[in-house]
Amino acid sequence: MQTFRDRAAAAYDPERFRRQGHQLVDQLADYLKAATQGGTLPVMPWAAPAENLTRFPAAFPEEPSGELAPFMERVLAASHHLHHPHYVGHQVSAPLPLAALCDFVSSLLNNGMAVYEMGPVSSAMEHNVLRWMAGQLGFPESAGGVLTSGGSAGNLTALLAARQAKAGYDAWNGGASAGPPLTVLVAETAHYCIARSIRIMGWGSEGVTPVPVDAHFRLRPEALEDALASATRAGRKPIAVVASAGSTATGAFDPLEAVADFCARHDLWFHVDGAHGASAVLSSLFRAQVKGIERADSVVWDAHKMMLVPSLITAVLFRDGARSFEAFAQEASYLFHGQDTRRWSDIGLRTLECTKEMMALKLYTCLSLLGTRFFADYVTATFELARRFAGRLQASGDFEVAVAPDCNIVCFRYTPAHVPASEWNALQSRLREQLITRGDFYLVQTTLPKGVYLRTTLINPLTSDADLDALMEALRQAA
Ligand SMILES: *Cc1c(COP(=O)(O)O)cnc(C)c1O
Repeated sequence: MQTFRDRAAAAYDPERFRRQGHQLVDQLADYLKAATQGGTLPVMPWAAPAENLTRFPAAFPEEPSGELAPFMERVLAASHHLHHPHYVGHQVSAPLPLAALCDFVSSLLNNGMAVYEMGPVSSAMEHNVLRWMAGQLGFPESAGGVLTSGGSAGNLTALLAARQAKAGYDAWNGGASAGPPLTVLVAETAHYCIARSIRIMGWGSEGVTPVPVDAHFRLRPEALEDALASATRAGRKPIAVVASAGSTATGAFDPLEAVADFCARHDLWFHVDGAHGASAVLSSLFRAQVKGIERADSVVWDAHKMMLVPSLITAVLFRDGARSFEAFAQEASYLFHGQDTRRWSDIGLRTLECTKEMMALKLYTCLSLLGTRFFADYVTATFELARRFAGRLQASGDFEVAVAPDCNIVCFRYTPAHVPASEWNALQSRLREQLITRGDFYLVQTTLPKGVYLRTTLINPLTSDADLDALMEALRQAA
């Protein structure tokens, strides 16, 4: 009869770990080879949700059973293959294999890092990788920030700090109704998480004051005065403007310089949601697109989008690092011992998370081993790929680009002469469905004022011009 101690010893047996680990890395390397080459592997093996529920049921044996490799084979086979060069869908990276290895290390060490003692290395790496990112943005030495779980959590963190700075009362302790109702000026094209954050803060739907965009889907700076006036007339106190550096639907970059001027004039907090596009600062060719970002009070920058690491790792950067302590101003005495609550090293003081994974490890390691030029070239290459793709679409005669791309997001539609314009919306949806259920390509769609458009994010560094020509051809064939 095996005791629990025997079983625990077996579950933690280093030799079994070594054996399984070697096998798993071999298996993943074979997978990576197949996925990166594309070929006959579908981008995503289409299956209805119910099908995967039956493939992976909650039927767990009481006793140990089965081997890791065949189990993972089923996981790999049924999954979405983001390294496939025909993956041109959502803004999720085809992670660097090196970064995946770091996640493996992070999972085994599990140095939780709410407090320095629980994650001494990752806390230091986080501090320094943020300093590097702040420097790339053009922030001064006094900048600081935190890493958090995604752009949505990041934007909430920044807006909480904005509220503490600009509300004129202590909404953190007194609640959202302890002073005049607040609002934030937000471009109509902002990611939905901004509106969600504002509702989480208890300001209701009026907490968002929409600002119209121009024909390029960029915030119209001349509309800010009107938005401010109408919010004030409605009895709201505007405290901030949120601009996007890379809006989600079309990748449009709002004119940051003009927004910065407006914020300076009216003493408003200037937040840039650069979840997707803040990485433009790395490219000498494209950093002009985010000119003015260095004047932001706070910036959100996802490394799991345009820095090639797996989810989730989002930087929330503050031009004045001291502001980063204001998002979550309360204390937990059992963790932080009532000492100086402005220590950089106890990162949980400033994050929504208490325990979090060793977030900085993968980014710090990839920057250390691959070098910064790799990331700069990656941004340049994908932005240029998008410009060439848009050019070919526009020149084709049977495709139409929604707008010249600011970054690596391209929205377009198939508009052949023989299909009447009244059927274009339905056509795009049907084409997309065909391509993704067949597994030829993975792309998404978006609804813009002129109708339904196919939407591609050229985020996989292995996607080439030839792959995009093949996409155009596949769409023609499907039609
Ligand atoms: C992706 C994105 C978000 C959401 O970030 P997550 O990391 O997915 O939570 C927010 N804003 C913009 C502009 C984005 O592109």
